[in-house]
Formats: sequence, structure tokens, C-alpha cells
Amino acid sequence: MKTDGVNMARRKARTRIGMPTTALEMPRLNGEGFCALACGLLLAAAWSLESGAARSPWTAALYTAAYLVGGWRQAREGVRSLLARYLDVNLLMIAAAIGAACIGYWREGAVLIFIFSLSGTLEAYATDRSRREIGSLLRMKPETALRWTNGAETLVPADTLTIGDTLLVKPGGRIPADGVVTEGASYVNEAAITGESMPVDKKAGDEVFAGTINGQGALFVQVTHPGDSTLFARIVKLVQEAEAEKPASQRFMESFERLYAASVLALSALLAGLLPPLLGWTWSDALYKAMVFLVVASPCALVASIMPAVLSAISAGARRGILFKGGAHLEALGRVRVIAFDKTGTLTTGRPDVTDVIPLRDADALELIGIAAALEQYSEHPFARAVVRHAAGLGIKPGRVTGFVSETGIGVRAGVEGTMWRLGKPDAMSAGGDAPDGRETVRRLEREGKTVVMLTGENGACGLIALRDQVRPEAAATIGRLAAMGVRAAILTGDSRVTAEAVAREAGIEPGLVFAGLLPEDKVRQVKALRDKYGTAAMVGDGVNDAPALAAAAVGIAMGAAGSDAALESADVVLLTDELDRIADAVSLGRRTGRIAKQNVVFALGVILALIGANFATGIALPLGVVGHEGSTILVILNGLRMLRW
Ligand code: ADP
Ligand code: MG
Repeated sequence: MKTDGVNMARRKARTRIGMPTTALEMPRLNGEGFCALACGLLLAAAWSLESGAARSPWTAALYTAAYLVGGWRQAREGVRSLLARYLDVNLLMIAAAIGAACIGYWREGAVLIFIFSLSGTLEAYATDRSRREIGSLLRMKPETALRWTNGAETLVPADTLTIGDTLLVKPGGRIPADGVVTEGASYVNEAAITGESMPVDKKAGDEVFAGTINGQGALFVQVTHPGDSTLFARIVKLVQEAEAEKPASQRFMESFERLYAASVLALSALLAGLLPPLLGWTWSDALYKAMVFLVVASPCALVASIMPAVLSAISAGARRGILFKGGAHLEALGRVRVIAFDKTGTLTTGRPDVTDVIPLRDADALELIGIAAALEQYSEHPFARAVVRHAAGLGIKPGRVTGFVSETGIGVRAGVEGTMWRLGKPDAMSAGGDAPDGRETVRRLEREGKTVVMLTGENGACGLIALRDQVRPEAAATIGRLAAMGVRAAILTGDSRVTAEAVAREAGIEPGLVFAGLLPEDKVRQVKALRDKYGTAAMVGDGVNDAPALAAAAVGIAMGAAGSDAALESADVVLLTDELDRIADAVSLGRRTGRIAKQNVVFALGVILALIGANFATGIALPLGVVGHEGSTILVILNGLRMLRW
């Protein structure tokens, strides 16, 4: 019964304020469990006294004590929500118990209160379990660090670290802050962040993350993000916020609870009032039937149908490097019918290599690369980095540029030694005058699955650079898995159609779902078109230049986001690893959650209807009604907790 709105909100607030781990781990078993136990003992004592002699003042006192001990918490909750102007299940139960006592069924009333408080304890324990999962995540947060100053180490609390500090991470130690390796080499287990326990090779220049575990080597790390700004801390915060955000189905369920609880109370009053005059029942029989109705018709199990499953799924996802920024996205992902993939950096590894450098007219290849590298040195685009890397490999240092402009989805533009140059998509570059021999070459290279960019100066095109990006090895398998789940895959890219189709072929995406030559705003339009045609649409991107499309999709998924702040901010679901496969995992997690919620709602409604039916057909004893009712609530919660083991 502890899953009603008020309680939920309170417990959530407690988690969010960042209670120490121990508080998260020990749910409220103590007070509540103790009361339930005491209530049970008092009930047993009263019952045994009663069976001997006739009712004595002693038994009355014991029953009263059982009512008070077992029921005061629930009564308090009930009154609290009454003051907030709504009826909740606590109030219904207390009303039923008091009603039973009024017609002399002290024992039944006490049994009701006992089972009610016992199941309340179990429920609180069960729902807190999914939150304790996050507690265990928090426990992985390192508390101390070895600061390295002037060749000596000092042990300091991790939250006193500042940017620029150098740390020594010994073999087997937990890395205390985000940073860059300056010296040493090792393997690091990043499971705390990515869910992937395969150790990752780290050497000077590589990024390491707080919470991950160093392997055999010693590492010197320069701190870039200390304390609460570490990726790890932000993940924990995101998950906690996600838990506070209820999916639409849960919000519906809660508003339904208020209406429903009020109707149940009104109906039982009506039953108690109308049965005697209409059917000639005794008042006491009518009241008894009304009390049973009140208990079995209460929506406890319905209210507990969704959140435990959703919370468990969010925790289970977080452990595997899939961050949901709220239960709503989990639900939406379960309904997805089509997923649009960005090409560069999503379907492909995003680490392209320059394969061909082709001067046009009478340009010189080295000069061509030199200008290209100068133009690209400030761009974050994967192609830009490839060009700069290629130039560096040839020993070319990029020269100075003036008036650098990045044209998202097209290319870059800047001045080199007084001349304006543009580098990017050949179709968009041709404005400066066509090189007829260039067209043919571009087509030929694109048919090989390469991306071609064109360099144009004031006198027109003067060179082509071809790059090849590897399609991720698991792409085809993932697309296949999605297809088996009935989810279509589409490709949205700013690249040319020929290149896009080559990638689509390799990844197993049907040609009808390849959309090429798109600017960022075209991607938004295309996502909407996909949604209109196939239903709920998700978009997977690298979260930087795909941000508008990510926002337009029902679910925006950012991939390989460990490290990229923009991705953490803009997407609804963040995959911390670079593995495409997690997308299919995330969809199946969403589906299973939806399925369990549906099972629960159907089961809860079924039990309510069956018990109401039985109460009218043959009549059932109050304690039996209570057991059936509370039993179904607990079953529903346990069913939801199954998601933890996903
Ligand atoms: P995608 O949708 O595949 O991720 P983008 O929208 O980032 O691709 O870019 C679309 C096209 O624009 C690229 O295929 C490339 O031709 C060109 N382009 C974009 N940025 C750059 C750049 N910095 N340098 C060269 N070409 C670029
Ligand atoms: Mg991209």
C-alpha cells in the first residue's frame, strides 16, 4: 500500500537529496516492520484469550492496542492525503477496519490491520530494492585519492580534488576523478560506467573516468572533472532524476486512484445503507458485506502495477550502460516502430581515414592537403579530424586561417593567405565553378562506399579528398535483431546518396529507407515523415549536430556518449558505450517493462473483479478478502521487480 502518490513522492525526495548509502540500503523495515510484528502478537494474544472465556475487557483492550499499533501509520498517511484533498487506499483500509469493529467484528478488523501493515512493510521493502540498486552504484564512488605533488603522494578526500591536480592511481585502485592519463599504461575496467567488463587499454593521452577500476599498471592522471562534475556523478544524478519522472501511464493511474477510491467508499456506504431496507438484511450483515467490498475493491494492486517495474528497468539499464532520462522514454521506446540512424559516427565508427587525395586542374597534392588541414583544424567533425591526422602523417602542420566558418551539414569555409577556400560536400561546393572531370571521379569513389569532399578556391574546384569510414561490425546484426522485433531501420545522412546506399547495403537497411543529402533541418522533417508512415519513431545520433532530430523524435538516443556533454544533455536515452547492439537491448527492455505493466494491470483488475464477484455471489470472510487483496498487490510488485534481473 505504500505505493500511493504521497508516499512515493516523499521517498523520492529522500533519495534525491542524496541520503547516505546506508539509508538507501536499509529500507523502513525497522519502524514499520516492528509495528506490524507487535500488531500480530497483540492480535494473537487477544485471540487466544477470547477463545477460552467470553469477551472480557482484556481482549477488548488487546484488540484496541493491535488496531493502534498496526494502524496508526496508515491512518496518518490517509489523513495526510485527505488533507491534501484526496482519498487514498490507506484511508479505505482504516475505514474498513473501524467499520468491522463497529459491528462487533473486532478480530476480523484486527486481522485486516495486521495483514495490511505486514504487506505495507513488504511493499516498502520491495519498492526500495530498485532504489538500493542505485545505492550500490553510489557505493562505487571513490572516497579518497592519492594526490601527487613534487614527487610524493598524499592521501586526500576525493571531493577536495581540483582541476589540474595530478593523481597516482595504483594497480587495482578505483579512479577518483575524470581525467587524462599523463604517464603510465594500464587496462581499466569501465564496467561502472559502460556496463562492459572487458578492460580498456589506457596510455598517456587517454581519458579515464571516476568510478572505473585500474588494472595491473600504475597511472598518473591529470584531473579534468573532479567531484560532482564527473561523468559518474552525473550518471547517478540522471538516474535519480529519471526515477522521479513518472511515465504517463503512472500519472493516469494515480489520478484514476483518487476517483476510484472515492467511488468505492461511496458504493460501500450505499451498500450498507440500501441492503437492509431493500433486501431485508440485518444492519450488521450489510455492513460486513460493505466492509469486504471496501477492502477487495481497493485499487492497491493497480496503483503498484507500474512504478516498481519501471524503476527496476531504469536501474537494470543503468547497470548496462543504458541511461533512460525518465520512465516515459522507457515506455515510448517499447512502442517504437522505426529507428532512424545517423550515418557518420553512428552506423559507422566515426573514425574515417583519408584514402585518396586527387588534385584537379594543375593543383599540387601536398598543397591541397595543407590547405584542407588548415581549414579543418577547428572543426569537430570526424572528417575534419581525419584530414588533420592525414596531414600530420605527411609532416604537414596546418597553417593559419582567417574568418573560419563551419557550415553544419555542408562543410567548412575560411581564408588562407588572403584567398577564401571552402571544403565540403561536392554538390554544395560547385557554386565556384565546375570541374567536369571531377564529377566522374566523385561518382566512382562514392560507389566504393567512400565519402568525397571537394576543395574549392576562388577559381573553382581544385581537389577531391576521399575518406572511408568503417561500418560498425555489429551494425548488420543489430539491424537484423530490430527487424526480428518488427522495428524498421532507416538511415538519415547529410552524405551523398551513393555513399549512403553503400553503407545501407552493408548494414542491411532496405534502399527505400535511405535518406541522403539531408541538412540538419531536413533530418527533422524526415523523422516526422517516418513517424507518420510507420508509427513511433526513435532517432539515434551522436548528439551534436543531430540535436534537432533527436529532439523531434519520440525518443532521441545518443550513442557512445561517455565524454560528450552535449549528448548527455540533449538525448532522452543515452548509451554510454559505442555498441549499436545496446539499442536493440534498450528496445527490448522497454518492451518487457510495458509487458509486465500490462500483465500487472490485467491481473490486478482480474483479482478485484473476482473478489467483488465472490463477495456478492457467495460472500467471503473479511480476512480472506484482505489476504486476496494484499496478496495480489505483493505479487504485482514482485513481478515488477523481475526487471531488476534483466
Ligand atoms: P552525417 O549526417 O552523415 O552525420 P553530416 O551532416 O555531419 O553527416 O555532414 C554531411 C556532409 O557534409 C558530409 O558527408 C560531408 O560531405 C560534409 N561535411 C560536413 N562537415 C564537414 C567538414 N567539417 N569537412 C568536410 N566536409 C564536411
Ligand atoms: Mg553525424
